[in-house]
Amino acid sequence: MIVKDAEFICSNTEIDKLPVANLPEYAFIGRSNVGKSSLINAMTGRKGLAKTSQKPGKTQLINHFLINKTWYLVDLPGYGFAQTSKKNRSTWEKFIRAYLINRVNLQCVFVLIDSRLEPQKIDLDFVCWLGEQGIPFQMIFTKADKQSGVKSDQNIAKFRRALKKWFEELPIHFLTSSETKLGCEQVLENIDAINQQ
Ligand code: GDP
Repeated sequence: MIVKDAEFICSNTEIDKLPVANLPEYAFIGRSNVGKSSLINAMTGRKGLAKTSQKPGKTQLINHFLINKTWYLVDLPGYGFAQTSKKNRSTWEKFIRAYLINRVNLQCVFVLIDSRLEPQKIDLDFVCWLGEQGIPFQMIFTKADKQSGVKSDQNIAKFRRALKKWFEELPIHFLTSSETKLGCEQVLENIDAINQQ
């Protein structure tokens, strides 16, 4: 898929102010600093579309971008940031969980995971929760350029193995880098394929 058009639509803190759910929607989520904004910018070829390197957890917004006038790319707030209060965390949880459970046009949640790290409990818990809720998801392992391919593959294998306890079948995954654009086209092709279904 060629991204000809990428337009910021709105930022929201309230579920009932989201855009009308009349187009397929794909949400991107992950731990703060996982490289979500960089990946969104790399995929769309728009450097400043998603704001990178903000103070972790500062803005708790759901950002909608309209891509090629046919689907929404949704940038969800990062989770797992250290510098926030319990109250902030539970507000985040309620808001995001309500969005994920209720958004009728949500086709797939892309869970971003840092490929340099051993499986992290917070990521495993989140993926399990999506599975329990029956929310369709796929995993994107980020920052592949920061280490050898062997190391990335080992961490991905460990992550998938850890999930096998909870899932009979696991969805596909992607290995990406915003620096080299590795995997960006595959994620877009995959969105294209889901849109055609
Ligand atoms: P977010 O908090 O998940 O939106 O993360 P950002 O996109 O702001 O990225 C956090 C930091 O990681 C920034 O310093 C980015 O430049 C860096 N980063 C993100 N993705 C990559 C990548 O694929 N490769 C490399 N080398 N650095 C990355």
